[in-house]
Amino acid sequence: MPNSNEETSLNEMFDGICQRACTYLISVIIPCHNESENIEPLYHRVQTVLEGMQQAWEIIFINDGSSDDTLLRLLALREKDKRVTVINLSRNFGKEAALTSGLDHANGDVAVPLDADLQDPPELIPELFAKFLEGYDVINAIRNKRLGESYTKRLSSYLYYRLLDKISNVPIPHDTGDYRMLSRRVLEALKRMPERRRYMKGLFAWTGYRTTSIHYQREPRHAGQTGWTYWKLWHFAVEGITSFSHVPLQLASYLGLTIALTSFIAAAYLVIDTLIYGNSVKGYPSLMVTVLFLGGVQLMALGIIGEYISRIYEESKNRPIYLVQDIWSSKIVTLQDE
Ligand code: UDP
Ligand code: MG
Repeated sequence: MPNSNEETSLNEMFDGICQRACTYLISVIIPCHNESENIEPLYHRVQTVLEGMQQAWEIIFINDGSSDDTLLRLLALREKDKRVTVINLSRNFGKEAALTSGLDHANGDVAVPLDADLQDPPELIPELFAKFLEGYDVINAIRNKRLGESYTKRLSSYLYYRLLDKISNVPIPHDTGDYRMLSRRVLEALKRMPERRRYMKGLFAWTGYRTTSIHYQREPRHAGQTGWTYWKLWHFAVEGITSFSHVPLQLASYLGLTIALTSFIAAAYLVIDTLIYGNSVKGYPSLMVTVLFLGGVQLMALGIIGEYISRIYEESKNRPIYLVQDIWSSKIVTLQDE
């Protein structure tokens, strides 16, 4: 029979082991491009949430070629808190590449990509984490309503996701941004996806691991300007479609087939018309319309093929997705160290 002192120390030991076994490491990944004013408020909100979760955590900031003092502010943060990692990319590689670099460097059992502009409330992380504990690998945060975004942007986004869903090979979730929680399993799978043109939402869906979602309200930007012009959004949309669907290519051939059949019928009609009525000179407008229409369709089909070829070209060069200039790693503090 152990005496009461021994019993307490055994209990403490057991608690310690249990705590260690139950502690997960959460990596929050934040790509930043000219986000100087958002860094401090963002850090405080994320830190407050993580602190309340009784788990180990790290925040990985990626400076994606900012031209303002974002990097300086990140380094100041890192001075104060060693759980912060700062990755400084050699230039602006774009959000998807920046996010990839963060995911590659994440040490966590789970990772949460977060926008630096506070549009995705970090307060949802515990809710996402609860789903992870239930055994899910991808937990999507679906935005219910978009505050501070124009009607046209909302409508085009609504239509786009539905179109993408119809024509893509994998079920890409509607209305999700990059806000979600990913398990280590998904992180490892992502590292095995070598594509340079990365449509992240699609890649996560492609893994096929157990997926679920929670709903939230997307807020307007905290400060600064969105880097997304309509032109960039258009390119992003084309990226999604060409990365996950061959339908546009098939569309080109079906369109060609339909036009060829129609022209055949029209040609037969014209021949008969000429033979019976002898109107050989008439028909200039119909000729012009046909020529122009065919020219247009051919150019469009060539354009679609070109989109795919440019992607093949890009992939075949096999360049790295991003280049790191400097990295200041976090010292991961577990509950026991604290
Ligand atoms: N971002 C980035 N590189 C870029 C553009 C944006 O790392 O070239 C980051 C940006 O700092 C933010 C996130 O990606 O944290 C989302 O950007 P933004 O708010 O402009 O996009 P939106 O919310 O309109 O989709
Ligand atoms: Mg934003």
